[in-house]
Amino acid sequence: SSHRTTTAANTADIQATDASHHMHPFTNTGALNRKGARVIERAEGVYLWDSEGNKIIDGMAGLWCVNMGYGRKELVEAAHQQMQTLPYYNTFFQTTHTPAAELAKEIASVTPGDLNHIFFANSGSEAVDTVIRLVRQYWNIKGKPYKNILIGRENAYHGSTIGGTSLGGMSGMHKQGGPLVPNIERIRQPYWYGEAGDMSEEEFGLACAQALEEKILAVGPDNVAAFVGEPIQGAGGVIVPPANYWQEIKRICDKYDVLIAADEVICGFGRTGNWFGCQSFDFQPDLMSMAKGLSSGYLPIAAVAVGDRIANAFIEHDEDFNHGFTYSGHPVAAAVAIENIRLMKEENIVDYVANDIGPYFQTKLREMLSEHPLVGHIEGMGLVAGIALVKDKATKTLFPDDLDIGLICRDHCFENGLIMRAVGSRMVLSPPLVISHAEVDEVLEKARHCFDLTLASVDKG
Ligand code: PLP
Repeated sequence: SSHRTTTAANTADIQATDASHHMHPFTNTGALNRKGARVIERAEGVYLWDSEGNKIIDGMAGLWCVNMGYGRKELVEAAHQQMQTLPYYNTFFQTTHTPAAELAKEIASVTPGDLNHIFFANSGSEAVDTVIRLVRQYWNIKGKPYKNILIGRENAYHGSTIGGTSLGGMSGMHKQGGPLVPNIERIRQPYWYGEAGDMSEEEFGLACAQALEEKILAVGPDNVAAFVGEPIQGAGGVIVPPANYWQEIKRICDKYDVLIAADEVICGFGRTGNWFGCQSFDFQPDLMSMAKGLSSGYLPIAAVAVGDRIANAFIEHDEDFNHGFTYSGHPVAAAVAIENIRLMKEENIVDYVANDIGPYFQTKLREMLSEHPLVGHIEGMGLVAGIALVKDKATKTLFPDDLDIGLICRDHCFENGLIMRAVGSRMVLSPPLVISHAEVDEVLEKARHCFDLTLASVDKG
């Protein structure tokens, strides 16, 4: 076999090669090159091993995607078989193949309501761009080409394509690579702990939804195509909206005939304890984007689930959708996604998150960390959580930005065999959905230890 056992010596080689030629996403490549990237070599279940032999528990499921865990032979076998039968063919113009057709049916079997029409892409960003183009063209077909403004939210993440960047609300991204796509507006995010002042969750939920109505009225209801939001804002630090927020958003969208798109790239496929996050907040979108958990990250594949209203407008008007990707519905990625959904159903994973491991994780997380001096607030649902780190719990005072408290904490985690993500001063967990009770305990014990180390390092000054 050509399998090579990595030693410390070739860790340095890989780092040197990486530093010479690899530009990393969302990374200060200069700083990384001086330090050397950590080399992740293999994975099994919820664990990773680096090239030095360190075993690391993955509290983030990769990048919120390896929902069914690493090393699933069934997914490997599905890819292997499909590669031998038909490694590639496209779905443009007048062709299809079994994996694309079957996967569309499988996705429709788990989406809520009439989201039964599936368009394929390869990444969440492409799915979001597809949403933007679909809703604008929908209103064009309806004879309202001026109804083309999309409304997103501050601190939202919808991907890194120019469309996803423009719709998202990440100020650091907006500063680069502009100008952005026109006719996109944004409203505030529903971040109760950080921004509500004295308001109750309920009052704040209504106030944040009210911001949508104000925005719609400011730009004119006849000009607004759609509102797009993540049911729970993920990359923004896991911001769980008040329970009444989405209901009110939906009511406002209906009132002004504005479409509603749920970006389910993180929330989809069981993360919140339902197949999709919109079900956890009890609202029915007109369309939704999904990626990540669709294939548990084993191969790149994404989709937009489109409801009857929009799909039928195209179908009944014999309208071309002039949009698509060489790899839309890629047969190997589709075969893996079909098998992934089959496994999720066979192992009752959504029920496991809703009624067993999700409640266990949320309860234990609060038991172990809410009294910690660094922890201002914990929010989450199912198997996703965000923890606000504060300098002073009583006053909710944050550490100074330039201290980078989140990065200090993340680095302690990394050193101690736990992957946890930092978003500013918020720490994030999103482990594989197949995680066991004992593994949850391990994640949380490591997290608490690393919070102690973080506290000790800032106390020292
Ligand atoms: N939308 C949401 C809600 C996401 O969380 C992400 C990625 O984290 C994206 C879109 C972009 O997905 P991708 O990185 O696959 O392009």
